[in-house]
Amino acid sequence: MPKMTASARTPLVAAVQHAPGKTSKVVKKVVKVSGVPDPKMRAKPGKMVYYFGQLMTEGAADMKQLLGGKGANLADMTTIDLPVPPGFTITTDTCAMYYRNGQRLPHGLMNEVHKNISFLERETGKKFGEVGNPLLVSVRSGAAVSMPGMMDTILNLGLTDHSVAGLANSTKNPRFAYDAYRRLINMFGDVVMGVDHHHFEEAFDKIKKKHGAKLDTDVPEQGMIELCDIYKSTYQRYVGEVFPQNPFKQLELAIEAVFKSWNGDRAVSYRRIQGITGLNGTAVNIQSMAYGNMGEDSGTGVAFTRNPATGENIFYGEFLINAQGEDVVAGIRTPQPVDQMPKWNKEVHKQLLEIKNKLEKHYTDMQDIEFTIEKGKLYMLQTRNGKRTGAAAVRTACDMVREKLIDEETALLRIPAGDLTQMLLPSFDPASKKKSEVITRGIPASPGAAVGKLAFTAAEAVERARKGEAVLLIRKETSPEDVEGMHIAAGILTSTGGRTSHAAVVACGWGKCCVVGAGELEIDAAKGKLTCNGKTYGRTDTLSIDGSTGEVMVGTISTVEPKLSGDFSQVMKWSDKYRKIGVRTNADTPADAQRAREFGAEGIGLCRTEHMFFEGDRIKSMREMILAETTEARVKALDKLLPYQRDDFMGIFKAMKGMPVTIRLIDPPLHEFLPHEEKQQKELAAQIGLSFEKVKQRVSALHESNPMLGHRGCRLCITYPEILEMQVRAIIEATIDALRSNYKPMPEIMIPLVGGKRELAYLRTKVEETIAKVKEEQDYKPRLDVKIGTMIEIPRAAITADEIAEKADFFSFGTNDLTQMTFGYSRDDIGTFLPDYLLHEILPADPFQTLDIGGVGQLIEMAVAKGRSKKPELKIGICGEHGGDPKSVWFCHNVGMDYVSCSPFRVPIARLAAAQAAIKEKNNKD
Ligand code: ADP
Ligand code: MG
Ligand code: MG
Repeated sequence: MPKMTASARTPLVAAVQHAPGKTSKVVKKVVKVSGVPDPKMRAKPGKMVYYFGQLMTEGAADMKQLLGGKGANLADMTTIDLPVPPGFTITTDTCAMYYRNGQRLPHGLMNEVHKNISFLERETGKKFGEVGNPLLVSVRSGAAVSMPGMMDTILNLGLTDHSVAGLANSTKNPRFAYDAYRRLINMFGDVVMGVDHHHFEEAFDKIKKKHGAKLDTDVPEQGMIELCDIYKSTYQRYVGEVFPQNPFKQLELAIEAVFKSWNGDRAVSYRRIQGITGLNGTAVNIQSMAYGNMGEDSGTGVAFTRNPATGENIFYGEFLINAQGEDVVAGIRTPQPVDQMPKWNKEVHKQLLEIKNKLEKHYTDMQDIEFTIEKGKLYMLQTRNGKRTGAAAVRTACDMVREKLIDEETALLRIPAGDLTQMLLPSFDPASKKKSEVITRGIPASPGAAVGKLAFTAAEAVERARKGEAVLLIRKETSPEDVEGMHIAAGILTSTGGRTSHAAVVACGWGKCCVVGAGELEIDAAKGKLTCNGKTYGRTDTLSIDGSTGEVMVGTISTVEPKLSGDFSQVMKWSDKYRKIGVRTNADTPADAQRAREFGAEGIGLCRTEHMFFEGDRIKSMREMILAETTEARVKALDKLLPYQRDDFMGIFKAMKGMPVTIRLIDPPLHEFLPHEEKQQKELAAQIGLSFEKVKQRVSALHESNPMLGHRGCRLCITYPEILEMQVRAIIEATIDALRSNYKPMPEIMIPLVGGKRELAYLRTKVEETIAKVKEEQDYKPRLDVKIGTMIEIPRAAITADEIAEKADFFSFGTNDLTQMTFGYSRDDIGTFLPDYLLHEILPADPFQTLDIGGVGQLIEMAVAKGRSKKPELKIGICGEHGGDPKSVWFCHNVGMDYVSCSPFRVPIARLAAAQAAIKEKNNKD
């Protein structure tokens, strides 16, 4: 016996002859450490293998890091008395050791495996590799984070030329035995030895033809026997060796293949897309087989305990009679929905519904399960928290609170904040849909409205989408190789496969619009053609697919903004109840401000004034101002801009009635406002009455080598104070107007790109002087509450934040520039190297999307502390892109900011993320 916990060290109960199909009479011994179940206690140093079964169960649900999600939950399901075929799990640490060891299996591993196989033999009463009643196992991968379909499973391992005859005898079902064997040779050849799957497919097709079989289940016993022989020679041809006849050799090679698959292309690519880093490796699960392919009373299926697309509380899934493993999801035969099951086997259906409830009570979350029925007896093979769309996450969380399974705080923590975006996406306009031509209907697998031209391979989708084209990925079925193309496509459409097919599950997890199993479609990927009911569509044709109804339509259907459901507002209400920090929005127009308010923004954290200079005629006056050679000429041009700015501010104050609006003074280098082509320069010259030469000269004079580090931000107003004066005048005139119209304006003037106290002091005086002047002109006597603050976006500003605070009423972290300058990465040029940094995990994520807490975050933390040390009441927020990124919002909460500000569509995300941060903080304290 390996070293185990107390109860496992007691002698094993005498083995009872037990084959799946009979209920075990073994008294169960579940290993439990007394007191707190600390996973570290149960995890024994040096122990590489953990058993689960009736003899003992050494793993538990909270050991996912070590045993992988699949292994931990197999142990857990065994513990709560669900019917799980016994097996054992090789730890993720062992996988890490394999790589440290120069890709060699660690010393002693196979000894532990042998020992555990003998436990399995005792428990099942079968013998691995024996002719009489052979024990067969599956070899399955499973990391701590689930990666559906990323690594392939090998079933029926242990079969050989000898034992297949034994299996045929002991089951009195030779067809089954040879079906199992041909599957093993195929899977082992493909997954372990890298023999292309289609070599086996071709052979199978020939056998089917020969025996006049349409489906694989129609192939008779004789055909299966022939197929095994052909497969073995196919194997030998491509591998150069005979199919291994020693079961332990098979097992060893399979274990190694699982370890290898951890660094296979598909796994690496999936982890990159999902941003999964910091994992040890994959575990290997070796489990005795339950046979779903023993005949009409057997089968296999996958299901969700609730609908993963909508969240509706109904058992949702599919099953296939006389089938094994992946047959259900592979689209070989069309599976039946689980609600058809009572017609086939009422008892099993009832049992599954009971298991659904038991699992949901146990995990208090929606589960994604796999099961197999062997001669009428149900076996559970997997459970995990089900992937779901944003809408389903919201509905499930709210329903589970109503069902008293979870509380509000847990409900909020359950919803990935970023997934709310999906609910804010537009759907097809019913009016426009009515007029459209629906060419066919598939299974609605993942909601959304996608429009695009047709791409027929993942590679093609990637290539065309990168060039800016909206494409729909059209496939017969998808496989893990396709994930890049699936990810980049606007939507996914397949002609085969059901609601639990690869395409459906992956798309649901991403919230990407997806329609599967549109059986009327005939796809010719090689020719780039899709035929449906006699009509043909190619690469340049546009289709629209509706992921909520399964409709496939010709042309571009227009879309409408979403109506947010009651559950969505419930989640927002709860979020506002728990969150501690404010949520503002970045908005430059009254329309954006209005939308953000509807999404719950409590103010504007960043109003960029320069965007206002681009519209219509304004750009003309702006250019005139930039090209002016004297102050008077500049003032004259600015005077033309003044009324526009004032009106814009008025509109925004109106939209944001009673809420703060942070207005940033001009920020970009002036060069950005000028035309760069000769033709346009000539036009401009004519418009403003200058010579073309002059214009050209001025444009090139304004050219800078590093404009982002050049004459921009507050530096502009130091050189051209009249710009500041015009902008502040527009703000104050609008404020006084708005006050007089009772719009309760709360302007905050923000000076960008400050690097030190003196800079800010100098400009603050100018702002204050202008305010005083306008007040006098307007004859406005009461106190005007206009805050004057600065952005902290230059590392020096963060470092000297205490000094700067003396002159600032508020700080707002401009994390785009701060990231750019802290890393020394030009944001506009990262495309050339960032992908490599992410690939090699030199950076864990794009620092312009997720705040770099270790570096940029440290500057922020320091600046907050320093600023508040001088001015405890200093108001602090963030207005970079990071303000809407959940992880960054948590950080902002933790450093004690007053608010985050983000684009209107991210406001709900920030509200939820802020609540999650507050709840997590509270939970950590408890
Ligand atoms: P994935 O992670 O891709 O889902 P799995 O290891 O879960 O891979 O399994 C692939 C398929 O094989 C699933 O349908 C699963 O239920 C089935 N399977 C795995 N192990 C066994 C077993 N011991 N008996 C019967 N079916 C199994
Ligand atoms: Mg699985
Ligand atoms: Mg900036």
